[in-house]
Amino acid sequence: MGIVVQKYGGSSVATPEKIRGVARRVVETRRQGHAVVVVVSAMGNTTNELLALASSVSPNPERRELDMLLTVGERISMALLSMAIHDLGYPAVSFTGSQSGIITTDNHTNARIIRVTPTRIQQGLEHGRVVIVAGFQGVSERLEITSLGRGGSDTTAVALAAALGADYAEICSDVDGVYSADPRVVPEARRIDALTYDQMQVLADAGAKVLNAEAVEWARREGIEVRCVATQGDRAPGTRVRAGGGLQRARVVAVTAHPGLFLLEPSRPGRAAPPELSATLVAHGAADAQVFEWTGGWTALVPRQNVHGEAAFRDAVAALDGVDVREDLTLVTVVGRALTSSPSLLPPARAALEGVGVRVAGQLLDAGRLAFLVDATRAHAAVAALHAALLPAPAAD
Ligand code: ADP
Ligand code: ASP
Ligand code: MG
Repeated sequence: MGIVVQKYGGSSVATPEKIRGVARRVVETRRQGHAVVVVVSAMGNTTNELLALASSVSPNPERRELDMLLTVGERISMALLSMAIHDLGYPAVSFTGSQSGIITTDNHTNARIIRVTPTRIQQGLEHGRVVIVAGFQGVSERLEITSLGRGGSDTTAVALAAALGADYAEICSDVDGVYSADPRVVPEARRIDALTYDQMQVLADAGAKVLNAEAVEWARREGIEVRCVATQGDRAPGTRVRAGGGLQRARVVAVTAHPGLFLLEPSRPGRAAPPELSATLVAHGAADAQVFEWTGGWTALVPRQNVHGEAAFRDAVAALDGVDVREDLTLVTVVGRALTSSPSLLPPARAALEGVGVRVAGQLLDAGRLAFLVDATRAHAAVAALHAALLPAPAAD
């Protein structure tokens, strides 16, 4: 049997007991005859705690040093999991991102994987070991330690699966698949059996945390099947993300809210984006901003999660000529297919938002998504209303 890459998120390795549970799950996969490479996230809330620690020392932490600090979280989990697997009688070895040959750009706190040369992982597998890799991190060509941005362990797993020629990447989490909305926000949300790469990409770009957007890019580019499953409980199939998908015939697939954005726009209508905008975004960990240009204007949507040192970011944007920052809005997105064809989904979607008193500050429609800019404090109400209107529960028999 071939290689399987399993990734365990922070909640799955939050306590020593949970780490021992993950070790048992890994060993079970190994016993089924698979060679197993495991990618781990930092325990529980560790990354947030390390970020809080950094900002208690420095309001605008130096981003190279932030990477030295943040990457420690995953290193703790990898060593502990390896010990737990040893205790179950199986040989295991843990490696940092750099030891695993994960080569990245040098954009600290939001680096991109350029290539993976997994020589040591392959050697470990040849010796019959379970190999455990610290997620969310790599090393630049200049030998600097880098991190991949929040949620980056998913990307580590998929990029490794591609480099190792694995059968699939299994993303093991506290939720047993991808749902039609975040089940914490919409309890009626339904689990989706299969999604195309394109649909998952729109969902991830729109802020659904369950799978990192860059991981989906890797999966699509390299043709890696991703299986989103629960760490705990029996081994249900979860959600499969793959080419074609095939099974998802519905027009509307899911609804999601972005967890937090800065919205940049021209201070006077008609002004072009300043040439330094892109460098400013990159310098502040926001290389993943989406910039939309239209006749007479532009808007940049900047995910907040990788901007560490928000005051410094606001100052840097204020220093640009003619750019305003808004922090009161976020994006709520309906993901689907053929969304521009008739009948239009806009009237029922707008009516649903109006019905719960959510004002729309902007909207965007293309074949794969219908997105609204709404008051950030009403994002969950907007998701629930759109889900109820566009993804009603199937009629009971
Ligand atoms: P991990 O720590 O395992 O990487 P994350 O917290 O990053 O897990 O992602 C899992 C969380 O994603 C779930 O607990 C859920 O609240 C959230 N989520 C957001 N949108 C969705 C969705 N459409 N389907 C499933 N989970 C979602
Ligand atoms: N520990 C990192 C984070 O909290 C990476 C990850 O969990 O994927 O964002
Ligand atoms: Mg995650």
